Amino acid sequence: MEPILAGALAQFHEAADQVSLRDELRDYLTAFKTVFQTQFPVEMDDGSIRMFDGVRVLHNGARGPTKGGIRYSAHVGLDEVKALAMLMTWKCAVVDLPFGGAKGGVTVEPASLSSNELQNLTRRFTSEIIPIIGPDKDIPAPDMGTNPQVMAWMMDTYSMTHGYTIPGVVTGKPVALGGSEGRFEATGRGILDVMQEHLRAHGGVAGRRVAVQGFGNVGGVAAKLIREAGAKVTHVSDKDTALFHRDGIDTSAAYAFVQRGGTLAAWRDQFARDVEVVAGADVLTADVDILVPAALETVLTEANAGAVRALLIVEGANGPTTPEADAIFRERGIVVIPDILANAGGVTVSYFEWVQARQFQRWSEDRVNQELQRIMARAYQVVSARCPIGTRTCTLRQAANWVAIERVVEAITLRGIYP
Ligand code: NAD
Repeated sequence: MEPILAGALAQFHEAADQVSLRDELRDYLTAFKTVFQTQFPVEMDDGSIRMFDGVRVLHNGARGPTKGGIRYSAHVGLDEVKALAMLMTWKCAVVDLPFGGAKGGVTVEPASLSSNELQNLTRRFTSEIIPIIGPDKDIPAPDMGTNPQVMAWMMDTYSMTHGYTIPGVVTGKPVALGGSEGRFEATGRGILDVMQEHLRAHGGVAGRRVAVQGFGNVGGVAAKLIREAGAKVTHVSDKDTALFHRDGIDTSAAYAFVQRGGTLAAWRDQFARDVEVVAGADVLTADVDILVPAALETVLTEANAGAVRALLIVEGANGPTTPEADAIFRERGIVVIPDILANAGGVTVSYFEWVQARQFQRWSEDRVNQELQRIMARAYQVVSARCPIGTRTCTLRQAANWVAIERVVEAITLRGIYP
């Protein structure tokens, strides 16, 4: 078994022990409703035919249709997809969306394909998974290596085989095709929302010093919005460059530059020569109040957890903290808002997109942001009520897992076992 799946199962069993889950429910929740694997042909631009491996895993559908991204990456493997499908079940449950968890992927390096080949691959893979996806069954979304254009092709392929347009079959579509306003910024915005809720009694994020690792869809947007909320973002980084300014970096300008295709290094060289270049590792141990790891998994480890100076860590990336680092943070009284809560803003606005598609409605960006804030704040309150800050007997990660598992178990129990 790959470490990623072993880790997901270990975390589940720890939480299951703490909520005294019965053995048969453990078996149920560590099983996968559907594991669909396919090998399918794609015609390449030179007329040759190449075979590809694709997979779609539905973990648990007790709370509703399953939901999760489609990943195109050379490293996609079954265990990884299973672990991520399970994570989606907990993520949807913790923010109380009426969805279960799923994930899928194709083993391919998307950058090695032409746009035409990518479209052929997407349309053929979609046609292979048509029996298991659908707006009432399983709803894919973009993930690593896929984007709104890929979702548009998936939606079109599904719709063509049914004879009419079915926008609710995928989320993360281009706005012109029924994608939701606010979806692009949703994960970063949700990070700010939970942060504000956590600090509500202490004046919010305004005036705090913040370090953000990663400057893409999650980190870049979070860094921009956190600054706009009045914090000083003193450290930011992308894969090549880390930047520091003691008075705060103009993350709005930097993100606008990066969105136009630039890099942090080029932005600094052209517009912000007073910003210092520092080592990437320094961002994680920066002298700040809040750290947002929003790039990669397993960056906070036994090796650097002791040197982290932030008092609050808000996990933008999936799985940035190893269990060893988590134990050190707990010991040191550093609060971690866990990934399944902190980065759930993306799937929450995907849910709004699905609702809009089902009702042929268009919500304004203001409405999307308000509803997102309401859901994120409520989820934070429910989780933190299970583990009040300052009690050293539990962590917000444990509490989030308990809430998620209990909600899925409640749905299973109310539905009963068919027949
Ligand atoms: P992205 O590709 O848009 O951005 C990734 C960023 O991380 C880039 O700026 C890249 O340069 C940077 N990066 C890569 N290696 C780095 C390193 N060693 N040090 C510093 N920066 C580094 O990806 P994203 O969508 O922002 O996703 C980031 C993380 O958030 C992933 O773990 C992803 O699974 C998770 N996530 C994303 C969403 C979403 O809606 N996009 C939702 C939930 C979770």
